[in-house]
This record gives sequence, structure tokens and C-alpha cells, in this order.
Amino acid sequence: MIIVLKRGATKEEADEILGKIEAAGLKSLYMPGSERTVLGALGDERVLGKLHLESHPLVEDVKPILEPYKLVGREMHPHDSLVRIGESSIGGDQFLVIAGPCAVESHEQLHETAEAVKAQGASALRGGAFKPRTSPYAFQGLGLEGLQIMRQVADEVGIPAVTEIVEVSDLEAVCQYADALQVGARNMQNFRLLKELGHCDKPVILKRGMAATVKDLLLAAEYIVSEGNDQVVLCERGIRTFETATRNTLDLNAIPFIKQHSHLPVIVDPSHGTGRRDLVAPMARAAAACGADGLMIEVHRDPAQAWSDGEQSLYPAQFEALMRGLQPFVEAAGKKLARPATP
Ligand code: PEP
Ligand code: MN
Repeated sequence: MIIVLKRGATKEEADEILGKIEAAGLKSLYMPGSERTVLGALGDERVLGKLHLESHPLVEDVKPILEPYKLVGREMHPHDSLVRIGESSIGGDQFLVIAGPCAVESHEQLHETAEAVKAQGASALRGGAFKPRTSPYAFQGLGLEGLQIMRQVADEVGIPAVTEIVEVSDLEAVCQYADALQVGARNMQNFRLLKELGHCDKPVILKRGMAATVKDLLLAAEYIVSEGNDQVVLCERGIRTFETATRNTLDLNAIPFIKQHSHLPVIVDPSHGTGRRDLVAPMARAAAACGADGLMIEVHRDPAQAWSDGEQSLYPAQFEALMRGLQPFVEAAGKKLARPATP
């Protein structure tokens, strides 16, 4: 429920009501605003009814939160959230680009790609050390060695590192080496993992499952935020449809829908969304134009030699061209293209 306090209510007065909410076994939220203070109560609404807050002298209104995603929805939190990745912020008017190879293959491969993407304006480096592959015979990632390479390159180049977490038992190691953790499409509803990520102090990039609805994605994010980590970025990466011309169908409808219904930043991954490098730049521009807060793009120094997702990875020169042409589309949506935070 949303509890709107009367104008002029003090923090102490709000605390008294928050105490009652907590004592009833509900989760309470305090959201001071410039006009009014709003409180939230999450949990069994029948319990809240017994508190009769609507007749409390400081309460102006008590109304239900209609959306199922209480914490990531805009009803309780109307303003855009900002999520920090390294020294940069994503969300609000900041459009941020994350780029790098699908997988960490070697120090030289990652270093060369990292230098290139940073020089072209990427604010974060991606690269998987743990790769969830469709086939058990495909390259599964370098594991711990990949994490160590990722950290070393990120420090050498001066760019934050984003890498995928595939299971709870890797959490400590991944948190030790990465600046932001990616949850892949195949793990979007790994609820144990989501809950654990709610207890870690690193931002999480949550990718949409290939057969997940937008509501499923928002409720998956709710798992992380409800456990205490509000640094969550959503990522549209395409869904399975009957269409076979492209690897996935990049659902750009999801972007303005999510922006309306959630305060969390949402980025687009046109690499997995299309599966074809010739379609990445046009869909990246479309994503910026429809209001995405950023992009995640696969770039490899030599895509023909890539150990995974080479066919959708851009050559560094193609990434440079993409970045050069992006600005008008970002500005058309009222945002600014963030520049790498460290020179
Ligand atoms: C990836 O980012 O390389 C990846 C595995 O993506 P997804 O989880 O979206 O398939
Ligand atoms: Mn990939």
C-alpha cells in the first residue's frame, strides 16, 4: 500500500507510522518528496487494514499499489533511478554503452578489444568468463582465469568490468573481480541466484529470458531489489518467436513500456537480439531513439576467430562507426551519450 502523509509531516511523525508498519510484520519504505512524504507498506494487505492508517491524523490517503512489481514499479517511485557502474551512471538522462567480446579468451584479445571500445566511447567493458552455452561441447568460458584477466585488463585500460554470473557458488569470486554482474537470459528466473544478488553490493544487469514476458522480467528484478540491492539495470536482448530470419526478435516495444512502468534503467543488446552483425547498428540506433538508457554490444578484435558469437560481433571499425552515428538518436530521445569516466 502507498500511504501519503499530510503536508508538513515531520520525519519523527513518519517514523512513528513506519514503526507500526514494521511491528505488524510488514516491510516499510520511507520516501520523502519535495511536496509530500510517501510511505510504503509491503506484505499481507489484510494486516495493514487492521492498523486503520486511513483515520490517522497525519495520513492523507492510503491506496493500493496496483502493479505486481511493487519496488521496481513507478507507482511508489515515480522518478528514474540511477545505477552506478564504476565511475559512470546509467539512467535518467545518461545513455551508457557497454561493449566487449562475448567471452574472455586471452589477455591480448581482451586488452586489444577493451582499448578499442574505450577509445570509441564505451563506458564499460563486457566479457564472459562463465559462459552458459546451448551445447555442452561449446566453449564454456575460462572460468576463474577469465575473471582474473577481466580485472587485470579493466585496471590497465581504466574501464569498469561487466561479467556474467551463472550460479550462486561463483558469487564471491565474481564479486571480487567484477564491477557489475550480468544475469543471462537463461538465468533470469533462477530465483535463488536473484535473491543472493539482492545481498551483494555490486550493480546487476538483468537480461530478459528468451521466453519471458516483460512482467516476468520486472518480477525477476523485484526479487533482487526486495532483498536489498536496488542497483539493477534491465536488459532487452530479444525473445524467441516464430521468426527464423534473425537469432531472436528484438522486442523494442518493451523499452517504452518498461520506461512507463518502472523506474529502473533499461538497456538493449542488439547483438543477441539479432544474431547478425549487419543488423546491430540499425537496431542500436532504434533502441536509442525509442528511449533505452544504453546499449550492450559485442565487439571482437577479430570476429572470424571468436570462440563464441563471432557472427554477431562487430569489428572494432564497425563499432567506431556505430558510436559516431549514435548521438542524434540519443539526443532525439532527450538523453546524453555518456563518455568514459576515466580518461
Ligand atoms: C551474453 O551476453 O553473451 C549472453 C550469453 O547473453 P544472453 O544471456 O542474453 O543470451
Ligand atoms: Mn554472447
